[in-house]
Amino acid sequence: MPAKNINDIVALCKRRGFIYQGSEIYGGLQGLYDYGPYGVEMMKNIRDAWWRAMVYERDDVEGMEAALISSRLLWKYSGHEAGFSDPLVECKKCGLRMRLDKMKDETKCDSCGTTDLTPPRDYQLMMGLSLGAVADGEINAYLRPETATTTFTNFKNVLDSVPHKLPFGIVQIGKAFRNEISPRGFVFRMREFEQAELQYFVRPGEDDAQYEEWKQTRMNWWITELGIPAEKLRFAPHEKLSHYAKAAFDIEYEFPDGFDEVEGLHNRQDFDLGSHTKGQGDFKIAAQVLENKESTVKLAYSDPQTGESFIPYVIETAMGVNRAMFAVMVQAYNDEDLGDGKSRIVLKLPPKLSPVKAAVIPLARNVPELLDMANGIVGDLRKLGLGRIELENSGNIGKNYRRHDEIGPPVCITVDHQTLEDGMVTLRHRDTMVQERIAATDVPARLREIVIR
Ligand code: ATP
Repeated sequence: MPAKNINDIVALCKRRGFIYQGSEIYGGLQGLYDYGPYGVEMMKNIRDAWWRAMVYERDDVEGMEAALISSRLLWKYSGHEAGFSDPLVECKKCGLRMRLDKMKDETKCDSCGTTDLTPPRDYQLMMGLSLGAVADGEINAYLRPETATTTFTNFKNVLDSVPHKLPFGIVQIGKAFRNEISPRGFVFRMREFEQAELQYFVRPGEDDAQYEEWKQTRMNWWITELGIPAEKLRFAPHEKLSHYAKAAFDIEYEFPDGFDEVEGLHNRQDFDLGSHTKGQGDFKIAAQVLENKESTVKLAYSDPQTGESFIPYVIETAMGVNRAMFAVMVQAYNDEDLGDGKSRIVLKLPPKLSPVKAAVIPLARNVPELLDMANGIVGDLRKLGLGRIELENSGNIGKNYRRHDEIGPPVCITVDHQTLEDGMVTLRHRDTMVQERIAATDVPARLREIVIR
């Protein structure tokens, strides 16, 4: 059974080194988190699973990585500078600042209940920078609030250097920054987070079918690659479409507090390339865009057959990597009653996502022969290149199993005195706690089968 309470996940993350509060030793800073030894491994595994499905297993998608800081002009023409804001309401009694659309009751303070509130005002979510010595304090650049815009502005670069016919896509995984009014839900709403986004460029007219296909592709990925059961996921249509969006659905996961967004899927029409292109008058742009006289490049596609030049439509899939990891942790968390008053907490992670792939444990500490044997197995397993393999040499086998249950390697391998005589080790399976004796020489093949299956 998945976690019933977010606090259980927060405690486990801190205890076992997945996620810590940012700036913790100075009292912490809201909405910012530091990822520890096992957190970085899991984030990497989720990124890898996404990149594999989106880039390596396709012919029509390229990857890129843009700078996190970009010119003010990108965010002027993307519409973010004027419009990327949330409605902010402040409580006049206790000073709490709230996002109007996320308040429990729009007429009352979430904390003290008073109705004495300020009228809503727009609150800019982007973090502005004054870059360089000559800037004199004025904002001339922004930390990006999404990866998408930096993909759009590189559309022509990528297309010129790696030619593609439509439809084709560009992906990025990387940090995004938003000065969220009220960060909440642990890593659910952060001020610095990571996105994995696809912008898929299609011919106008083929956009509806492509949108439907991507909806299914992405939902399947959540089920097959992240191991989330289908009944814990759903599509939720946006109640109000942005002016540029033709269609917008979220994929939602059922967290302990209810269903909430983990990925957004949008048909953005020609809004983005149309907003950033030079010579807007040369094209029939369907979306409503800001007049742009500052762009230096035409962000258009030339049809190789007809020679016609037009602005493609964009289908976007935008996942939060931190939210994905959070959902996977919630789903994998099990508090198991083992009978006789005993219990264990175990993370039943899909092996590909586990931060540690196997722990090798010499049964007794300080026995050189056992340690040598264990180190030999560790070396063989590391050669497989599956990820982190740990040598656990602290001696107490029961404690070691509990620790690794909470970290989530699919198997522990124990080397004991008998191993020195017959070359057999104990393979203990995390989920079932079943133990089997197998030859040490067979361990690498077994582990590969377990992790790659
Ligand atoms: P929300 O409605 O929750 O503010 P959004 O609709 O603005 O999110 P998008 O701009 O579509 O989100 O971003 C795509 C994905 O990025 C979201 O589905 C989510 O997983 C992730 N994301 C967005 N904002 C945050 C945040 N503040 N902290 C962590 N992840 C986020």
